[in-house]
Amino acid sequence: PLRKGDVTAEEAIRHADHLPKKLLIDGAWVDAQSGKTMPVVDPRTEEVVLRVAEGDKADVDAAVAAARKAFDHGPWPRMSAKERGRVMYRLADLMERDREELAQLETLDNGKPIFFSRAADVPLSFDHLRYYAGWADKIQGKTIPVDGPYWAYTLHEPLGVVGQIIPWNFPLLMAAWKIAPALACGNTIVLKTAEQTPLTAMKLGQLALEAGLPPGVLNIISGYGPTAGAALVGNPGVDKIAFTGSTEVGRKIAGQVAQSLKPCTLELGGKSPVVVCKDVDIDKAVADTHFALFFNHGQCCAAGSRLYVHEAIYDEFIEKAVKAATTRRVGDPFGDVDQGPQVDQDQYNKILEYIDHGKNEGATLQCGGKARAGKGYYVEPTVFTDVKDSMKISREEIFGPVQCISKWSKMDEDSLKISREEIFGPVQCISKWSKMDEVIQRANNNAYGLAAGVFSNNIDEVNTLSRGIKSGTVWVNCYNLYDSAVPFGGYKDSGLGREKGEYALSNYTQVKAVYQPLVNPAW
Ligand code: NAD
Repeated sequence: PLRKGDVTAEEAIRHADHLPKKLLIDGAWVDAQSGKTMPVVDPRTEEVVLRVAEGDKADVDAAVAAARKAFDHGPWPRMSAKERGRVMYRLADLMERDREELAQLETLDNGKPIFFSRAADVPLSFDHLRYYAGWADKIQGKTIPVDGPYWAYTLHEPLGVVGQIIPWNFPLLMAAWKIAPALACGNTIVLKTAEQTPLTAMKLGQLALEAGLPPGVLNIISGYGPTAGAALVGNPGVDKIAFTGSTEVGRKIAGQVAQSLKPCTLELGGKSPVVVCKDVDIDKAVADTHFALFFNHGQCCAAGSRLYVHEAIYDEFIEKAVKAATTRRVGDPFGDVDQGPQVDQDQYNKILEYIDHGKNEGATLQCGGKARAGKGYYVEPTVFTDVKDSMKISREEIFGPVQCISKWSKMDEDSLKISREEIFGPVQCISKWSKMDEVIQRANNNAYGLAAGVFSNNIDEVNTLSRGIKSGTVWVNCYNLYDSAVPFGGYKDSGLGREKGEYALSNYTQVKAVYQPLVNPAW
């Protein structure tokens, strides 16, 4: 538990001052070749707290060359898989050792409450490294019986140099999701961090060197998307691109890599539906759906941002949801709060614009609806009800603390006697359209398909909804669980491929089939 004021931003700034604030290329921290730096802004104060190197194409090219050399000639892909795993376990241990420093840097950079940096971002990140360290010596092919005096086997080989681009909402965790499977499979990496949040990756780079990762295996570039990011995607020395970010940028990247036939995984945006049925424990469903949307200030790709509440409990649910939002403690993320500032001016402006759209399009504003007075990118927890599926706030990703609640209804199957009771006669009962189909259709009537929530105590409703909704994850009577072992990724405009779990190994390996003759086919 956090004691109020047990850590201050000044302490976090001191940690940040000790970071290299440079680019990690070939095992050394270097300035950008252009000499340029970019600001790191404290979202609580809107002030620049420090500057870090601003990498661009020249630095990306140098990093890719270093990663190429490390892959083609270095020990990493050649060492025993167990030894690779050991280095990764050491890195995880060092992250755990410095967990408090990492948590403070994350809160300073991103604005998320220190409690969540400590309880979620940092431990999930080192857990991820450990999980894939365990896979390093379990990546194996198959022996395949074939016709004739031959046998065949497969090798799962690393792809080579992978270019990875990450967003700012979970800076350390997104870095861990990217680097851990790539390292376990024996690849070398150029990681481009988000321009808003370069700090924890710098600490991660320091720890990777301390753990004994050979030079050039992990290169880290802080820089902007259209310069450093685009240069990484376009570099012919990169064998694979893994991107997490907006659908808009994901589309651009997919277009760019299509020409080079580079494999590419994309983890993109979301507008995740959450369906609440009528038989639930309302208090628990309110608390869980509040967490589904407001966790990380709504800045989650999987945020439960379209909430469909059954008409039978709608009024009571709304009353309680509004109470949960209005009692949310917003303030300095180094204090004992639930919500800090949004990450930057752009996101803050974008969220306020969406709130205006909600008001103008006729949704009912129940609470919030504006920025908090004073310095910092703080937005009041906002709840809109009577949201229609056609409204912009229901169709598009807001990425902020704005809960959109709609009503749905389900025909009571019990209502007709002929439907409830056994007739035992030649009487066929055909229903035209179950209302459950209607809510599934509404849930699916959106460009995205990243995640969904289902709240019900009826097993048929749970099964129908979780199979009917088109999304990469469905949480039933819970939300926002991210175990390292479970795959994550999107249907439709939410992306291509899956990260995490065993599934991610195929993103970072390719399969080679080897045929060999058998001297004595009888054996
Ligand atoms: P963004 O797409 O603007 O930026 C993401 C990253 O891409 C940054 O590092 C940025 O510098 C880089 N970039 C920008 N333009 C580029 C270009 N032309 N070429 C190469 N790289 C470029 O997204 P954002 O605003 O930082 O992040 C929020 C988005 O990320 C949301 O849409 C959210 O849903 C999504 N997201 C998805 C997941 C997931 O797992 N599906 C996880 C977290 C965030």
